[in-house]
Amino acid sequence: MRLDAKIPGGPLTEKWDRHRFELKLVNPANKRNFDVIVVGTGLAGGSASASLAELGYNVKTFCIQDSPRRAHSIAAQGGINAAKNYKNEGDSIWRLFYDTIKGGDFRAREANVYRLAQVSNNIIDQCVSQGVPFARDYGGLLANRSFGGAQVSRTFYARGQTGQQLLLGAYSALMRQVADGQVTIFPRREMLDIVVINGQARGIVVRNLITGEIETHPAHAVVLSTGGYANTFFLSTNAMGCNVSAIFKAYKKGAGFSNPCFTQIHPTCIPVHGTYQSKLTLMSESLRNDGRVWVPKNPGDKRSPRQIPESERDYYLERKYPSFGNLVPRDVASRSSKHQCDQGKGVGNTGLAVYLDFADAIKRDGKSVIEQKYGNLFEMYEKITAEDPYETPMMTYPAVHYTMGGLYVDYNLMSTIDGLFVLGEANFSDHGANRLGASALMQGLADGYFIIPYTIGGYLAGTPLPEINTSRQAFLDAAQTAKDRTTKLLSINGNRTVDYYHRKLGLIMWDYCGMTRNDHGLMMARKMIQELREEFWENVIVPGANEEFNQSLERAGRVADFLEFGELMIIDALARKESCGCHFNEAYQTEENEAKRDDDNFKYVATWEFKGYEKEPVLHKEHLAFENVELTQRSYK
Ligand SMILES: Cc1cc2nc3c(=O)[nH]c(=O)nc-3n(C[C@H](O)[C@H](O)[C@H](O)COP(=O)(O)OP(=O)(O)OC[C@H]3O[C@@H](n4cnc5c(N)ncnc54)[C@H](O)[C@@H]3O)c2cc1C
Repeated sequence: MRLDAKIPGGPLTEKWDRHRFELKLVNPANKRNFDVIVVGTGLAGGSASASLAELGYNVKTFCIQDSPRRAHSIAAQGGINAAKNYKNEGDSIWRLFYDTIKGGDFRAREANVYRLAQVSNNIIDQCVSQGVPFARDYGGLLANRSFGGAQVSRTFYARGQTGQQLLLGAYSALMRQVADGQVTIFPRREMLDIVVINGQARGIVVRNLITGEIETHPAHAVVLSTGGYANTFFLSTNAMGCNVSAIFKAYKKGAGFSNPCFTQIHPTCIPVHGTYQSKLTLMSESLRNDGRVWVPKNPGDKRSPRQIPESERDYYLERKYPSFGNLVPRDVASRSSKHQCDQGKGVGNTGLAVYLDFADAIKRDGKSVIEQKYGNLFEMYEKITAEDPYETPMMTYPAVHYTMGGLYVDYNLMSTIDGLFVLGEANFSDHGANRLGASALMQGLADGYFIIPYTIGGYLAGTPLPEINTSRQAFLDAAQTAKDRTTKLLSINGNRTVDYYHRKLGLIMWDYCGMTRNDHGLMMARKMIQELREEFWENVIVPGANEEFNQSLERAGRVADFLEFGELMIIDALARKESCGCHFNEAYQTEENEAKRDDDNFKYVATWEFKGYEKEPVLHKEHLAFENVELTQRSYK
């Protein structure tokens, strides 16, 4: 495996324009000769499918759900960033670029991040033209609010339902192409393998989730936009169907996997409340625009929050980080919450929670203003906890939320397999070791609407792509492997459910590869995962049959992949002997308990090459060059 980022030459600000000029074009009349497969219909896949079809390519789009509209992107709450500077606060493309590079603790590629900031403004225009109902101010102009890690308000939003509204926009664009015959949708299909012929991605194998039938589909290029793998931890804020399987299968077929240990733990989620829980709920970062985070100053103080006087409260984020206050980036806020709880200052029954208090904001702005901004989030909180956050502070605790790692992609968003492109949360690209809030939607839509439509053309126009069909041996072999695995899972007939193994894996990951890590714990965790995986393949029970809608079988396949992938996360965490962003190895911290990077030795993208089941993967490094920003110790004081 050879990593080549293919970063264009020239000044940072001109790279993307220059690259678009230099990329080969597919003549409009020739586009109809190319078939493109897009797996995933979230913001990344939905926008890519619509845009590629609009250009004239024949697109086949696949998703697990019954409708593209149900992709996990629909859950996104707080907003999407863009450098419009509508508030006249001094925002700019450069500032968004800088904030994102710094927010990621200097572990992302400058050229990609700059391009992301450049196209951020086009995304807002595109979505407004589609009719996305972004919040507007009194005069009718688009409103903005703040998110973590920035000192400007650059987040566009639609109450706490931004993802839903953006997805409806992308979905309408997609369905227009379906009506025109340019896109064929294959819902309820799970990609089980990718087909590589002569080093090129030429198709996929999917299971029809209703009939159990294995299907094979050929194409000239394959685009994976299958989302993130936070569910490796079992409990996360992600939808239950989110998985690693598609990108993990691609990894096994030769796609490099980058920075798998970079997992974002979001500071404000509704705390875990029991052992039977299977899902955690996010309370959007937007709430920290108005909510103030605090804990009692005295450990073990069990009084109700309203009985604790101001003088006995510690607004620790405001105290520790006066410049950014409650809106420090997520990694910093999460570790601070944990730190408070570790000192016995956590609140609630478990002691694993901190307050997020709106009393001051309600006093200042009135309840109706707060309701307008966050009404649906408050309602959701009350439904889940039976407490009214207008009256009593919310209780929140960090939870697994997003994965910065993903398949390696070059500047064209192509993986290390020719013709296999990866978009959205599924790639590793733009967020380094920590993603800033409201930047995932920006990245997914940048990839889908504004980057892949150009870069895929460059590939298709410049690459010999012999005609193939699904009778090729590579298709037959991949389909047979998928069938054999399903048969194996159904035949074990052991004593433990799939969820039992998933929960156990999740706990191992959370305890040893979560908010903080250390080498001893990681080594133990690796062994525990290996043992758990062995037991899974001997003792899991998967009820039902293949030829039916069988969600236990679906989950079994995904958990089997998580059980292998979890180990890769551990291997990656062990190899990175520094702390950066979300990856906090206790051995590497500053005197103030912040992450301590080692730029001399670890300023790289760690990309792993699969070498066989139960064999050590091989590490490849893309060294990151910072020519436009100065590497500093990240500070939000
Ligand atoms: C609760 C919550 C709130 C969030 N709020 C925000 C926010 O306010 N702002 C922000 O910027 N980000 C937010 N995020 C992050 C953001 O929502 C996601 O990163 C983003 O939506 C991911 O989009 P995607 O298109 O990459 O993947 P997804 O939306 O996850 O879509 C994945 C698609 O792939 C398909 N798929 C997956 N595996 C397979 C397979 N094997 N075969 C076939 N199809 C497959 C699925 O069916 C789906 O269609 C939030 C995340 C969560 C969990």
